[in-house]
Amino acid sequence: MAAKAGRYRIGVDLGGTKLAVGVVDSGGKIVGEAVTYDHKGLGEEEVLRRIERNVDDALAAAGVARSDVKGVGVLFPGHIRWPEGVTLTSSNLAGFKGFPLRERTEALLGIPCLADNDANAQTLGEFRYGAGVGIDPMVFVTVSTGIGGGIIIDGKPYRGFTGTAGEFGHMIVDASGGQRCTCGNEGCLMGAASGLAIPEAARRTADKLAAAGSCADLPAGCEDYSALDGALLASGCADGNELCRAVVEEFARYLGIGMYNIFQMLNPGAVVLGGGLLNLPEFFFETAVATCYALAGGMMYDRMEIKRGLLGVRAGVLGAASLFEA
Ligand SMILES: [Zn+2]
Repeated sequence: MAAKAGRYRIGVDLGGTKLAVGVVDSGGKIVGEAVTYDHKGLGEEEVLRRIERNVDDALAAAGVARSDVKGVGVLFPGHIRWPEGVTLTSSNLAGFKGFPLRERTEALLGIPCLADNDANAQTLGEFRYGAGVGIDPMVFVTVSTGIGGGIIIDGKPYRGFTGTAGEFGHMIVDASGGQRCTCGNEGCLMGAASGLAIPEAARRTADKLAAAGSCADLPAGCEDYSALDGALLASGCADGNELCRAVVEEFARYLGIGMYNIFQMLNPGAVVLGGGLLNLPEFFFETAVATCYALAGGMMYDRMEIKRGLLGVRAGVLGAASLFEA
């Protein structure tokens, strides 16, 4: 097969534990992939070598040469300067403070490189290839261990003055609820309704249920609040566990408040939701949507769509590759 020069892009999804590299064709299809879990705790240079190894493995799987690649997009799990691609901080990787990730990756591979924050890149992926196609402005919110997001305006990520726009996890949704966020503030969406927030939310909810004389037992297979996660919440809800159901309902209401705030600030055509907590039972999504629409009421003239993302685990690789136009 004779590939045209520059026909492919590479997406590098550099996560805290997973390193996924995909070769993406001009239609947004992943034609070769290499996924590993062996870079956690390593220094920057070792991580770079693993990126190069996975790039070569993904190219081999796709039958594509480096010379057929127009660009490599790297998705970084933390703050990073755009367009310089110099990392600022990451709570998921060792080191990477002030590291020139874009420049070093480009030099190592000999292919033009761009590097962006993971949520920004995923937002672009959903806009180009997923649930956000044809919708502009569009907002993406990922609800997972933490909460992140991104904004598309006029076909491009809106980054704000210093690049931190779209940090929806630190939007305050309940200033008096007592939930502490990783940033130190009280009542951020991430402190109120994310994977990190589950144990504290369960403890608080259990106290309320017990005070009301309701059953506040942990779900089957869970011995301690600190072990409660999204999967256990989901199975607990399926078993009719009251505590799990109450926590999921509370999370959904906070997410609905967050989306309402996004509506008021940006009036996007759609909010696309992604991340692991979207695997919670359907009433999580439905309650969040209903909460947002109820708050907006007559102020929402044309309905802002609220949709699930379509890319799932491919959002990272496709999003990173999207940093270069097809
Ligand atoms: Zn916060």
